[in-house]
Amino acid sequence: MDFNLTAPQEAFQKEVRKFAEAELPPFVDIMDKENRFPHEVRPKLAEMNLYGIPFDPKYGGAGADHVSLALAQIEISKILAPVAMHMQLQHVVGDRFNKLATEEQKLEWMPQICEAQKVGCFGFTEPDTGSNPKMIKTTAVEEADCYVLNGTKRFITNAPWADVMCVFAKLEGDISLFFVETDRPGFSTTAKMEKLGLRGTDLSDVILEDVRVPKDHLMGGKGGKFDALKDAMTIGKLCLSAQCVGLMQASLEEAIKYAMTRMHFDEPIYELQAIHWLLAEMASRLEASRWLVYRAAFLKDQGIDSIKDLAITKLFVTSTAVDVCRWGMQVHGAYGISKEYKIERLFRDAKMYELLEGTSEIQRELIVRRLPR
Ligand SMILES: Cc1cc2nc3c(=O)[nH]c(=O)nc-3n(C[C@H](O)[C@H](O)[C@H](O)COP(=O)(O)OP(=O)(O)OC[C@H]3O[C@@H](n4cnc5c(N)ncnc54)[C@H](O)[C@@H]3O)c2cc1C
Repeated sequence: MDFNLTAPQEAFQKEVRKFAEAELPPFVDIMDKENRFPHEVRPKLAEMNLYGIPFDPKYGGAGADHVSLALAQIEISKILAPVAMHMQLQHVVGDRFNKLATEEQKLEWMPQICEAQKVGCFGFTEPDTGSNPKMIKTTAVEEADCYVLNGTKRFITNAPWADVMCVFAKLEGDISLFFVETDRPGFSTTAKMEKLGLRGTDLSDVILEDVRVPKDHLMGGKGGKFDALKDAMTIGKLCLSAQCVGLMQASLEEAIKYAMTRMHFDEPIYELQAIHWLLAEMASRLEASRWLVYRAAFLKDQGIDSIKDLAITKLFVTSTAVDVCRWGMQVHGAYGISKEYKIERLFRDAKMYELLEGTSEIQRELIVRRLPR
């Protein structure tokens, strides 16, 4: 076992940290207070090659590994997690093209996704189900020269302004995957949702009404795409677990900073044992989470089937992030709930992760089904 980052990973981590600290703070209020995505950040992220970190340079990627992807997600989320969530969706969509599209489609779409000329979104959740994708109702019907899609997708990140969407639909009774350009007739989105955290990542429903796509937009052949969905979610879960590590790191730093300056009689609360306990718990949970994320990324780089490990990582890290951010808030006393303090946003953002890419309950099911008996 080697717990060290490689020299290129460490250099990349430093580069992304420098970028995030310099470029992202002006976007915090735009995203969190105005609930608006700052599109001017896209070329900056693309210039840093942050939209296609583990993909082959032939397709516009950075040619790095999943550990580097996790490191970048941590650094971006320390400053502004919803930007990392937006990057995550580009990676999930890019990964689907990488694994399931034809060479021609990869050469056409992936560089545009990696360079942010095209924004992707990814849809499996529907009004009647998010946890049980086999229950999806969106349909695809084959016609002579196309497939016709009908259905509604719910809570779709990036949807209001995406250019291309990966859509899971039932074709001949089984789940298939299509890519759909969002300017096709019959494709529309509803108003963006107001939500608790990760504000500024625009979320809406997608309505598909007789949307016709060419036959070659069926990705990876007919049917059997429940597995493709679980596989797609491994890169999503890696990214979002890394985002939680970034949030925890930021919470710990905020809590220490606050505790050093808030006075109790004539000494900072940092000297109180009760505060030591909170900070120590935060630091230890942060480290455990960090190493779970690094290991999950390492497994993906080894090409090891990581559905169980990513479920374990997601379950532990997302619920731990809520605890760590809550403890960070406790260190702040009543000021922790004030919008004047960063910890309030970190806590709201952390809560979101227990729900997306499969709830904690679903992660438990995925884990138990894979335990040796
Ligand atoms: C910020 C955000 C961004 C999102 N982005 C996307 C996106 O880009 N694309 C997309 O497709 N979706 C997206 N989602 C949707 C998300 O993946 C779903 O909300 C999630 O899968 C849960 O589905 P649901 O809300 O329908 O809950 P439900 O499936 O209705 O579940 C309700 C409750 O029942 C529990 N439950 C349900 N079934 C089981 C079971 N079999 N065993 C045990 N417990 C169960 C759940 O854990 C939960 O507690 C996003 C959600 C959020 C919050």
